[in-house]
Amino acid sequence: MTIKKRDCPSNDSVSTSKETTPKRTPLVPRPVDDARDDTIDHWPFHIENKQKCKLCMKVYSRLKCIKCNKSLCLTKDKNCFLKYHMK
Ligand SMILES: [Zn+2]
Ligand SMILES: [Zn+2]
Repeated sequence: MTIKKRDCPSNDSVSTSKETTPKRTPLVPRPVDDARDDTIDHWPFHIENKQKCKLCMKVYSRLKCIKCNKSLCLTKDKNCFLKYHMK
């Protein structure tokens, strides 16, 4: 009994020694909702037609956050503008 070792040379797996893998970390765009927490450039601006405050949903406000583009009320009793961004 002889066990024939089969060395098959017909295996054509040529190792491609060309390694061109540039190490570059892709720029991942931050989700829009993330901008709310960065507290940068969130300024109120006046709009022509008042809209319902996006936070309390009760008060109509003519103020909008320039970055979030959301109307938020800002009165002496209520400051949803601040509240919204401090959350
Ligand atoms: Zn409000
Ligand atoms: Zn904002």
